[in-house]
Amino acid sequence: MAASTAAIQPGRIRILKQATGSSVDEKKLTGPVVYWMFRDQRLRDNWALIHAVDQANKGDVPVAIAFNLFDSFLGAKARQLGFMLRGLQKLHHNLQEMSPNIPFFLFQGEAVDTIPKFLKECGASILVTDFSPLREVKSWKETITERVADSVSVHEVDAHNVVPIWVASNKLEYSAKTIRSKITKLLPEYLIDFPTLVPSERKWPTPQPFIDWGKLIADVVRKGAEVPEIDWCEPGEDAAIEVLMGSKNGFLTTRLKNYSTDRNNPLKPKALSGLSPYLHFGQIAAQRCALEARKVRKQYPQAVDTFLEELIVRRELADNFCFYQPRYDSLQGAWEWARNTLMIHASDKREHTYTMQQLEKAQTADPLWNASQLEMVYYGKMHGFMRMYWAKKILEWTTGPEEALAIAIALNDKYEIDGRDPNGYVGCMWSICGVHDQGWRERPIFGKIRYMNYAGCKRKFDVDGYVAYVKRLAGESKKRKAGFLLNGKAKEVCQ
Ligand SMILES: Cc1cc2nc3c(=O)[nH]c(=O)nc-3n(C[C@H](O)[C@H](O)[C@H](O)COP(=O)(O)OP(=O)(O)OC[C@H]3O[C@@H](n4cnc5c(N)ncnc54)[C@H](O)[C@@H]3O)c2cc1C
Repeated sequence: MAASTAAIQPGRIRILKQATGSSVDEKKLTGPVVYWMFRDQRLRDNWALIHAVDQANKGDVPVAIAFNLFDSFLGAKARQLGFMLRGLQKLHHNLQEMSPNIPFFLFQGEAVDTIPKFLKECGASILVTDFSPLREVKSWKETITERVADSVSVHEVDAHNVVPIWVASNKLEYSAKTIRSKITKLLPEYLIDFPTLVPSERKWPTPQPFIDWGKLIADVVRKGAEVPEIDWCEPGEDAAIEVLMGSKNGFLTTRLKNYSTDRNNPLKPKALSGLSPYLHFGQIAAQRCALEARKVRKQYPQAVDTFLEELIVRRELADNFCFYQPRYDSLQGAWEWARNTLMIHASDKREHTYTMQQLEKAQTADPLWNASQLEMVYYGKMHGFMRMYWAKKILEWTTGPEEALAIAIALNDKYEIDGRDPNGYVGCMWSICGVHDQGWRERPIFGKIRYMNYAGCKRKFDVDGYVAYVKRLAGESKKRKAGFLLNGKAKEVCQ
């Protein structure tokens, strides 16, 4: 069911629960509106926040943002949690400046407990949530929807995709080809400018809660120290906009011209946008990136079209897969032809087999693969081209496709700053299980799954140059870590 508001297209909203005795357009609400922010961690260009504020203003009630910090979510470590919390700290600061009437509440624990409890305490009328296709998030929403009082409506807003996932298609799409025309047809309706966020008119009745960001960040950094933070990517909305269109090093302003020619060259990582950390944590809207990219299409038509294909079609295809295929991270989620061919070749003889530990430590006989693994471990973002090679080699070197997929996903989620994302699950499924791809010439181990090898990479780019580049990256990172430990030790001695 869709709700209608002046500010936001009805198709962007799904009513997960309608409060008893209320109508969707009810003007007068009895209690506040709460936006449970999860995937779209930004104030600008956020349809879920726009909708929450709009509902509150229409109902003449206050609105709050609530965020739940899980004790553990898909194994996130210091790298991912530090980036997220530092981004949220900035968001909190900006919110206090821009919209002091909207408080930010941060809860710790399980959202299925904290969110219903908060709604009850503040007597909320509407819970607004953003959208994620991941099964954990779907299941929390189901539980929360069951647990909240009958007087609370629950609205889900797709603030992540340019075309809302359920509008783009009502079924599991086979490939980019099958979803492209559906999305393209809907762009005139959905790829539109964002309305300005109308400030909340009513003040929250209780004082703004104090959040000790320093302590929270120190805690996650300590607990997740196994995968330390990265320092080349500044978190937060302002930094994201700078990466998109800043005058110094912005993608659209200074780097776009080489996107279509150099984006598959791992030695030229700057040819890529570098937006995936921000898109993953929702610190920037894909819709904003697309709107700004369109403005420079006259100058760089090919680069912009290629970028929009990745940003909209491929990214939203990944969300489509996870939304409609519950087994999005399992061999069972692959198409039948792919499952069959992989099973026929599952016991083919492997030249090398490695354990998860050997792979994690980059101890294979292939220096190119080792370099890509180290790029991920130390830098936190493996080049997009190498991700395909990296995952396909795991299929070649493990005992079968199920193990390969499990290892690829585990490593991707542990080390990538943009990991634990539908793009990651689908990237691994594409590489290992042929999802969204077609069958190719049959060969050992891979069967009909597309194959990639070292010789092919050598023809495409300077493999030795890439290995040397990653060695430098890893060396710099180790030096920084040693400096950090030394400083830490020095501090301990001085205390
Ligand atoms: C094995 C494997 C694992 C991957 N893991 C992840 C992951 O964990 N998180 C993640 O965001 N992406 C993942 N990708 C997709 C892609 O490699 C990254 O999105 C990209 O490298 C991010 O860098 P960028 O933003 O600079 O890329 P750009 O080329 O500048 O792309 C811009 C944006 O378009 C989207 N995009 C680009 N390529 C793809 C793609 N193939 N599929 C879907 N969307 C795409 C992303 O949102 C990206 O941020 C994976 C791909 C593979 C093959």
